[in-house]
Amino acid sequence: MKRILVLLLMTGWLLFCENSEAGVETIAGSGTALTKLMEGNSRYGRFEPIHPDESQKRRKALSHEQHPYAVVVTCSDSRVSPELVFDQGLGDIFVIRTAGNIMGDIELGSIEYAVEHLDVPLVMVVGHERCGAISAYVKKETTEGHLKTIMDRISEEKEIIALQEQGDQMTDHFIRANVQHGVKQISESSPLIRERIRKGNLQIIGAYESLEDGKVSLLN
Ligand SMILES: [Zn+2]
Repeated sequence: MKRILVLLLMTGWLLFCENSEAGVETIAGSGTALTKLMEGNSRYGRFEPIHPDESQKRRKALSHEQHPYAVVVTCSDSRVSPELVFDQGLGDIFVIRTAGNIMGDIELGSIEYAVEHLDVPLVMVVGHERCGAISAYVKKETTEGHLKTIMDRISEEKEIIALQEQGDQMTDHFIRANVQHGVKQISESSPLIRERIRKGNLQIIGAYESLEDGKVSLLN
């Protein structure tokens, strides 16, 4: 009983220490950033989130500056909120969300801002299981208005065209192909991004989130 009590007290203390990290910190390198994201996702998957960086002190420290350590590009889907999925808090991640994580000039400009002005070393593009936007495209659902613009953009992706030419109809394959397209699109989007990658100061990676267990897996 005494041992259990000591263990609980120690766990509580560790959680307190993590939660009390309130200052505005910078994080060096994409490897460290990736580890931080994946550890957060592991906590989320185990239903053991610590909800870091949500204190009043943290909010105050961030009121004049921000140093997010990663950019996360993901879907607008209500089930994949990155701050929850990666168990991160205020000022930790710079988020870009659109239906199907489709990117155009405005989204790419936002990523460039984070890389150039905030020195973010990691960009992660996260697709997810049963993505409605990609599913609608695969099922050839009739769309109009601005939604059709999203479908048209998906239809132009080389990775998507390649799957269609193979006669592939698996939505999940299209979701992953769309992520791979996003990674390539960002990597080639501007001289600034290309230079940072070449110098080893920036990494762009693709990932896939399973909805049921919340697990994010890295894609090649
Ligand atoms: Zn989606």
